[in-house]
Amino acid sequence: MDPLPFFSPPLHSQRHTFVIDYVLKNKPVKVVDLGCCECTLLQKLRFHHAIQLLVGVDIDGATVKKKIHELTPLSTDYLQPTFDQLRIELYEGSVTQKDARLKGFDLVTSIELIEHLSLADVEGFSEVVFGYMTPVAVIVSTPNSEFNPLFPGLTGFRHSDHKFEWTRAEFRSWALKVCLRYGYEVEFTGVGQAPPGTQQSVGFCSQIGVFRRINEQDGCNVLFSDDSDGVFPYTLLKSIEYPSLRDNNILRKVLVSEVLYWAEQMKTRWIEGFIDRSDIANTLYYTEDGEGDCDRVSELCTAMEDKLTAAACGAEMQQCGRVVSEDQEGEDGDVLRTNSKGQEEFSQLRRCVSVPLAVLWAGYPKVSAWSGSLSNLRLILMEDTKVKLSQDGSALLLYHQEQEEEDHDDLKDDDFEDSGCTEASQCYHSAEEDWEAYV
Ligand code: SAM
Repeated sequence: MDPLPFFSPPLHSQRHTFVIDYVLKNKPVKVVDLGCCECTLLQKLRFHHAIQLLVGVDIDGATVKKKIHELTPLSTDYLQPTFDQLRIELYEGSVTQKDARLKGFDLVTSIELIEHLSLADVEGFSEVVFGYMTPVAVIVSTPNSEFNPLFPGLTGFRHSDHKFEWTRAEFRSWALKVCLRYGYEVEFTGVGQAPPGTQQSVGFCSQIGVFRRINEQDGCNVLFSDDSDGVFPYTLLKSIEYPSLRDNNILRKVLVSEVLYWAEQMKTRWIEGFIDRSDIANTLYYTEDGEGDCDRVSELCTAMEDKLTAAACGAEMQQCGRVVSEDQEGEDGDVLRTNSKGQEEFSQLRRCVSVPLAVLWAGYPKVSAWSGSLSNLRLILMEDTKVKLSQDGSALLLYHQEQEEEDHDDLKDDDFEDSGCTEASQCYHSAEEDWEAYV
């Protein structure tokens, strides 16, 4: 806990904001937070798109585990994954030990950590971080002891676990030695402004050094390479992989969901426009002998197709349907049940709406971007069991179910004269407008 009630925002937030500003500006891909404690900084960093690997290390694994669940993906990460990639790894281990998994990072942060180490361990930390891990940049923050007299009643260090608290000169001296030895340059700054008029004399409450490797092109510093490249003393506490569209399985699932969503939308809009054509639909379903009149079906479908082919952008949508008796279950699973007396007992009617893949591909940017090509889209849909395609693979088939009772009542109530051609042509026009909005 910060002993500084008078900082607003609180000092720990200011330190984290400093790191986040650096990340926004420099866009590091691999970031490790040393002494990550309860993962507060990691939680903030995980929302930064540039970062693909985010690692936390702390000697106190139990503390890390306390909030580990807050780093797991949110439901929106699964529902709306992006092409961003992120893996979070959390380790229990000491910054005085070399672990090969921590090499090659773009940014290492050490926020209020080094003052918890003995001076001998600070030497080990310097060797591990700057000599072995050799990241592109390192941000180190530590208390500035010159600020301490401003804390009313503070005697000794700010925290009982601190082994030292450095003046600005002491921090500077350590930092410059590190730079000289390991090939870095450093800029000094800080957060937690002193009261007006005292900033110059006491400096920032938390002093910060931003180190940059002088030859950024070098993957690692050959002078200090050693034989611990295959050493992994840290214990992996948790590895969290965020869903990404770069994962082919996820991309396929999301693409199919997107296609089905838009196809369903189209179907609904289309049905809203055409459903009242009960003269056609009900004649189709209620045949005298309870069997589908295939000739009639194809005749009606052809009639509809003729009308719809003329719709905007050449888009076509068809409605067709058929019914079969219980022992005649069709390949589509359409069922007309018969009771024990052999009487018809329609429990549901299913109509099949056919949505051309070309329309889905051309009309929805995500569908075209994610599938790459129309033929690829067809292949992906063919391999998904949730999807039913037409025989030639050019259209998606969606079923529309209705309660027979309702339809039957409608059939009786409807005045066929009123629901004839005039209404159908009105529906046709409204659907055409809908198509234009979509395509
Ligand atoms: N960095 C955290 C933040 O910004 O919220 C706060 C760090 S807390 C003040 C210091 C952390 O350093 C503790 O969680 C402690 O367990 C950890 N620590 C102390 N010695 C360590 C060591 N040798 N290696 C790794 N972590 C260490």
